[in-house]
Amino acid sequence: MGIESALPNDWVLTTQFKRVINWARRNSMWPMPFATACCGIELMATASSRYDVARFGMERMGFSPRQADLMIVAGRVGVKMLPVLQRIYMQMTEPKWVISMGACASTGGVFDTYATVQGCDQFIPVDVYVPGCPPRPEQLLEGIMAIQRHIDQEGMPPTDGKRMPLGIVVQPNQALRPQPVGLTIS
Ligand code: SF4
Repeated sequence: MGIESALPNDWVLTTQFKRVINWARRNSMWPMPFATACCGIELMATASSRYDVARFGMERMGFSPRQADLMIVAGRVGVKMLPVLQRIYMQMTEPKWVISMGACASTGGVFDTYATVQGCDQFIPVDVYVPGCPPRPEQLLEGIMAIQRHIDQEGMPPTDGKRMPLGIVVQPNQALRPQPVGLTIS
């Protein structure tokens, strides 16, 4: 099984080193979930068997920032929580990426109050904004794939003396789509 059964063992493959690095990095992003509210439930659903984020090499969601390179902010961020968010971000390994999942993480959502951060991008560089209240798992997967495409083509995140966010916005698509897995109800 595996690639060695499809290719003869004595073959030589030539490629650029950066392509191998990008390929490995793209397929082994380890998420650091920062789920504070209802969007976190959709984040959990993304890891379930129906949406199966393991297909992207990302089933290892861990709460140890030093072994994570993709922060997913899912839910509103309170002002009191902000130092924790920033500390976790700083502890993550480079190169690292950030997804802001849902209206609350990106803008504060309906919580236009002094106690809620009005967009986590004011304090950490956000690479992908996933809109919705809450976004569906498919939209989060679109956001993840946007980062994967960037890693594939560009490799490292852009810097100009300091880390520059990618600033990608996933476009909401309300069109009905077939279920990813056929349902049989008996
Ligand atoms: S965007 Fe909506 S679903 Fe997500 S945390 Fe805010 S209120 Fe909850």
